Parts: sequence; C-alpha cells; structure tokens
Amino acid sequence: MKVEGQGTPRNQERSRESSTSAYAVQCGKCFKWRLISTQEEYETIREKFIENPWFCDKKSNVSCEDPSDIEYDNTRTWVIDKPNLPKSPAGFKRGLTMRKDYSRMDSFYVVPTGKKVRSPAEVEKFIDANPKYEGVGKDLNFTTPKIMEDTIPRNVEATNSSKRMKTSKVDDD
Ligand SMILES: [Zn+2]
Repeated sequence: MKVEGQGTPRNQERSRESSTSAYAVQCGKCFKWRLISTQEEYETIREKFIENPWFCDKKSNVSCEDPSDIEYDNTRTWVIDKPNLPKSPAGFKRGLTMRKDYSRMDSFYVVPTGKKVRSPAEVEKFIDANPKYEGVGKDLNFTTPKIMEDTIPRNVEATNSSKRMKTSKVDDD
C-alpha cells in the first residue's frame, strides 16, 4: 500500500509458489520500511491505515533513527496493498496467489470449514450453507494488491513485453 493509497506493502518472494514471504509497512515520517511479524498485525495496521498512519515508534524499541528493516528493491517482488481493507474475520485467513505471468494476483479466503472461497459468489454460497457466518460477509474483500512492475523478475518481463507495448500505446492515444 504505497502507491495506491499509501500504506502497507506486502513482499512477495520470487518463487513461482509465490506465497507472501514478508509483510512490511512504510513509516509516514521517515519513509523507511519496517517488517511486521504476523499477517494479523499487518491486517490490523492496514485496516485503519488512512485515519491512523503508521510511524516507526509504533514498533517497540524502534525509532526513525534506526536503519530500515528492508529495502524496496528488485531482489524480491513487491506488491502494494490498498489501505483500509477489512481485517480477516476470526477463523478466516486471507491469501494471495501470483499468476505465472505476474499480470495480477488473485485473492482468496480459507473459511472456517477449511474450504477456499475466491469470489463474492462463493462467499454467498458458503454463507447460505453456514448462516451463522452471515455477519462476516462484508469483511471478505477480494481486492488485490498492485504488483510493482520494477520488481517483477526480468525473465517474466521478457515474455510479457509485447503485451506491455500494446498497453503503453493505448495510453499514448
Ligand atoms: Zn520512521
């Protein structure tokens, strides 16, 4: 969440398995990146990021004077979340997968029954079958983060180049 709205980014390791390898948030004062140790903590920060911006001193024993935990560079693929996405309800776990061509990510939730839901339609089905979760539907959000193009592995970029050129041509018009 840096470009789209200012917020917390998510780091993605280069492997094709592409599970999120680290969570980081950018300080609103010194702009250094700080690692956040758990997904839950990260989602808590992200949920109120606009009204409650994040600064280094929210991390214990850290201040803006300290060197950053992690640098934004292309040693890993970075994806930037939109701020203020709802925190995953208790018993639900949000996940992301990267498409092979790095064109976009897909989001899903593992629901309390252990199944994965990948769209609002699947959420509806799940709630129909499990009405006690009716209240959580609004907190299941499938917004996906922005993939930072300058951190996509080079070999992937090459296979994508024709598509990319087309896109920039459209923009020029
Ligand atoms: Zn700072």
